[in-house]
Amino acid sequence: MNESVDPQEAGDPRYPQALTVEDFRRNLAEVRNRIARACERVGRAPSSVRLLPVSKTVDEARIRLSYEAGCKELGENKVQEAYRKWEAMSDLTDLRWSIIGHLQTNKARLVAQFASEFQALDSVRVAEALERRLQTEGHGLDVFVQVNTSGEASKYGLPPDDVVAFVRGLAAYPALRVRGLMTLALLSSETARVRECFVLLRNLKDRIQHDLPRGNEVTELSMGMSGDFETAIEEGATVVRVGQAIYGARTLPDSYFWPSGTASRE
Ligand SMILES: *Cc1c(COP(=O)(O)O)cnc(C)c1O
Repeated sequence: MNESVDPQEAGDPRYPQALTVEDFRRNLAEVRNRIARACERVGRAPSSVRLLPVSKTVDEARIRLSYEAGCKELGENKVQEAYRKWEAMSDLTDLRWSIIGHLQTNKARLVAQFASEFQALDSVRVAEALERRLQTEGHGLDVFVQVNTSGEASKYGLPPDDVVAFVRGLAAYPALRVRGLMTLALLSSETARVRECFVLLRNLKDRIQHDLPRGNEVTELSMGMSGDFETAIEEGATVVRVGQAIYGARTLPDSYFWPSGTASRE
């Protein structure tokens, strides 16, 4: 036993590592329970919330255990890591991959190749790059537009005021099937301030729906993670992206995945 484990290194103690199929079954059941209770509070059907397990930093062996326990779609923040895993687990033919992190245009080719969804669209350049690659591949891609609802300068995502025009402009990219909006809320222990981010995203979606040409639907709200998914569900989340509550704490700091400055808890 190492007596001097740095708590930061050990990760969040609320989330012990899942190491067996049984661990994953139990964690998934617990998360689904919490989803159901949050739905109940606001009169929603639990089936209206899709649970997207987030497997970033988790190795292949543990991902296979989670798959056995029922994780048939996985969210990954970094494209190359996701691509490597997809290649290694191509025997799991019904496993779907969702990219939920910032994309550089030179990686659009990879996304077009293997992902079934991209949740972090926030620039015309990336839309163009994806469209070109998807045309080559001959298929479409479900996308979510990422919105910066916390106002933190360091976060990815479009400013809320730019979203309506941006979504309208996506009509020029027919391979991109716009499904909804995605956000990362403020990382804060103050629930009221976190909730404001989710309310903002929902109001934005409502506005867009009235604004889009007929036939276009933006119905999904991807919001909520291990620490805040219940609040997100109360405010209308249709997709929650949950990593640590299923897999266990990550030891890498969040700043590895998001621009620096977003990792500190307020
Ligand atoms: C890592 C990540 C999550 C999941 O966060 P957890 O704290 O593990 O639940 C959700 N969304 C995005 C974009 C992420 O990068």
